Amino acid sequence: QILGTSSSSSGALISAVRALSSSTTPIKATLFPGDGIGPEIAESVKQVFTAADVAIEWDEHFVGTEIDPRTNSFLTWESLQSVLDRKVGLKGPMATPIGKGHRSLNLTLRKELNLYANVRPCYSLPGYKTRYDDVDLITIRENTEGEYSGLEHQVVKGVVESLKIITRKASMRVAEYAFLYAKTHGRKKVSAIHKANIMQKTDGLFLQCCDEVAEKYPEIEYEQVVIDNCCMMLVKNPALFDVLVMPNLYGDIISDLCAGLVGGLGLTPSCNIGEDGIALAEAVHGSAPDIAGKNLANPTALLLSGVMMLRHLKLNKQAEQIHSAIINTIAEGKYRTADLGGTSTTTDFTKAICDHL
Ligand code: NAD
Repeated sequence: QILGTSSSSSGALISAVRALSSSTTPIKATLFPGDGIGPEIAESVKQVFTAADVAIEWDEHFVGTEIDPRTNSFLTWESLQSVLDRKVGLKGPMATPIGKGHRSLNLTLRKELNLYANVRPCYSLPGYKTRYDDVDLITIRENTEGEYSGLEHQVVKGVVESLKIITRKASMRVAEYAFLYAKTHGRKKVSAIHKANIMQKTDGLFLQCCDEVAEKYPEIEYEQVVIDNCCMMLVKNPALFDVLVMPNLYGDIISDLCAGLVGGLGLTPSCNIGEDGIALAEAVHGSAPDIAGKNLANPTALLLSGVMMLRHLKLNKQAEQIHSAIINTIAEGKYRTADLGGTSTTTDFTKAICDHL
């Protein structure tokens, strides 16, 4: 009877399941709408999640207008505490003014929350044609040190110095994460990307850590690739790669290159992984000031980041449902934002995704 096929009993079953799911305690997650196009695309995520019946309670935090002395940045202490308490969040892009001497908000979050690995999947979207049909790459970026820490100072007038610090602890941690990710996601190969021929000590240590971890995973193919050669090979034939692990600054650059292979920054998501099980998902792109406030932004990258967040929470059914709706909307081609050659606004494209759920 429970699995009865009559319309009335199956209708009752659906109602019972709905009642059960609506009575489920909502997930508590932090939301940083961010700057520039951030609030527009964050609104899109909220609408799609609501349409997909994701029971979620967002704790929203905006970037402050004054430095909070407790964080030494425009991020409030409460906003960091929100992520520490909830252990999961979604972040819109945050702008970093060039040469203003402020600590980057992104750096603050990564450092203060110890978000040590940034996972950036990049894959061809069915129905959206680029030069390649079969891109399927995972960039895993060390997220806490290297040149990207911004440790810089003036030595004397006209001479500045930037410190690149690489530690065994952080390199082992991200290498372990990359190999474990490859193993648990059925990936075949990990490539360690480096410039150890020149940066012999720093990239040399990073590479040595990757080599050590690779020995523990004999089932995963492993290679070392010099970053300049990696760029050339990625552009020529992305299928040569699978999972790529690399120091911070290289990850920042390579992941934009990868985005270019599949249609641009409007499409590529990421998730920052921290110790204590923290996951803060965010799009790879920045605040796009050139199109901010114009209802032109593509919300796909942030939506797919939201999907990564749902998968992290093991809400696989809703993650797949939203993922399919995004893919199908883009593949159908009727509603696309300008970066994908379409004429849809952010709001029309979002509505189309909701209609595909
Ligand atoms: P950007 O990623 O903001 O923009 C680069 C280009 O891609 C622009 O032409 C923009 O219009 C386009 N673009 C980006 N996202 C798009 C989307 N969703 N839909 C359609 N087009 C999109 O890079 P930028 O201009 O170099 O940086 C702007 C600001 O963002 C800077 O202050 C930078 O520091 C910051 N930034 C933040 C993050 C982050 O928060 N994680 C990442 C990168 C840059």
